[in-house]
Amino acid sequence: MKIIIATQNPHKVEEIRDIANLFNIHGIGFCPIDKSLNFNPVEDGKTFEENSIIKAKEANRLTKEYTLADDSGLCVEALNGAPGIHSARYADTAQKRIDKLLDAIKNETNRKAKFVCAMTLINPRGEIIFKATGECKGKIALSQSGTHGFGYDPVFLVDGTDKTMADMTEAEKNRISHRSLALQQVFAFLENNSYLPM
Ligand code: IMP
Repeated sequence: MKIIIATQNPHKVEEIRDIANLFNIHGIGFCPIDKSLNFNPVEDGKTFEENSIIKAKEANRLTKEYTLADDSGLCVEALNGAPGIHSARYADTAQKRIDKLLDAIKNETNRKAKFVCAMTLINPRGEIIFKATGECKGKIALSQSGTHGFGYDPVFLVDGTDKTMADMTEAEKNRISHRSLALQQVFAFLENNSYLPM
């Protein structure tokens, strides 16, 4: 089957393909939305789930295909869940976002945090057929470490490991990330509902 990923970011599609390969999921062609289509969803939802629905619906409206959208971000307990759905816009650059976060919790002993990813799958008729949320728990480090990944990875210490997300290889991250955990539920749904060859 073919699934349109509700993004024009080729890296996101690559990541999804890598995760599918890692879990031996074959028989799905993941495609970005055609650049010629005017994909500009207004992400004004109040939750990750609402924003993933907005993106999946807009991708379906434009393509009339199966569409999958994700919305993700970092939630910090001591900041009442911020930056949350505003993670991408918390400051102007990736480094400024990390600096602002470290400064915001510099006096906090509670450094618990989680990456959250909501995914929505829509069928060609525009009906939501599956929703999933993946969470990866951890703590905000006192300083940055690691060179892999993107965004807040260098300051996110993954629970049960002594590594930040940015210390992990791509394959290590793809086994445990919030996006991987949500996507694994999507794969299970597709397999259990005969969308994929067993
Ligand atoms: P998006 O929903 O995938 O566009 O992600 C929103 C924002 O959340 C990104 O711009 C990052 O700041 C942050 N984010 C989401 N996933 C990750 C991750 O795996 N590592 C680091 N930051 C992330």
